[in-house]
Amino acid sequence: MKVVVLGSGTSVPHPKRASAAFWLETSAGSILLDCSADAPHRMAEENLDWPNLDAIWISHLHLDHCGGLATLLFGIKHAPQTQERRKPLRIFACKGIRKLLTAIDEANDYRLLDQHFLIELHELPEVVDENGKFVILPGLSAQTFSTPHTPESSALRLIDDCGTTLVYTSDTGPSEDLIRFARAADLLIMECSFRRDKPVATHLELADAMRIASLAEPRAVLLTHLYPEWDGLDIDSEANQLWPGETVAAYDGLRLRIGSGAAIEKL
Ligand SMILES: [Zn+2]
Ligand SMILES: [Zn+2]
Repeated sequence: MKVVVLGSGTSVPHPKRASAAFWLETSAGSILLDCSADAPHRMAEENLDWPNLDAIWISHLHLDHCGGLATLLFGIKHAPQTQERRKPLRIFACKGIRKLLTAIDEANDYRLLDQHFLIELHELPEVVDENGKFVILPGLSAQTFSTPHTPESSALRLIDDCGTTLVYTSDTGPSEDLIRFARAADLLIMECSFRRDKPVATHLELADAMRIASLAEPRAVLLTHLYPEWDGLDIDSEANQLWPGETVAAYDGLRLRIGSGAAIEKL
């Protein structure tokens, strides 16, 4: 499984950190984890195969995570690269996305879901079973966890056919259940909004994140959703003072390969 960091930042405009988005290449297909307003152009900037994107996951309604979804749908509706596309695009999103897209559609009759190919829009919780599980693509199973951030926000756990496990917290406050949910992942993509003295309970600061890491014991942690207060600081070494495991501070353009039981590899 390959991970490309499209946006390691937050809602605050930043010269080097776009808002939240991650590109995944799996044996089952490609998936975009969150779609900030920056994501469509960041995919192109990274030379990724965005016209053939297979699935999108939207964690919550904050616009630094979903503000690019309408833009992306508008873009792929009219881009030359997607006019011959026929395979469906699956979107799995928090409750409320359909209402958001409908409101945008009604403002200008964009018909964003009416494309040359099928847009399968699934809102949670309609697709999940009693354990929060669903199949995001054949050969790639997913599980959600309701995070203490907003009423509709979820973390995601992905497992491919080889057993490679990736957990993405998206935005969250601390939670003992989240530790269990994130347990023993090959890669834990975890928000680490603040360094210390966080202003809100619904995000993590470094000590929160490293406590989760020490108890969940992932093979590696990718710290992301970094507010500008992190600028110029050595996040990796500050993290390693609290947890000795492999920690990587995300930056836009970072590429990682992960495998079941394998060390992460920077590409
Ligand atoms: Zn956010
Ligand atoms: Zn948020």
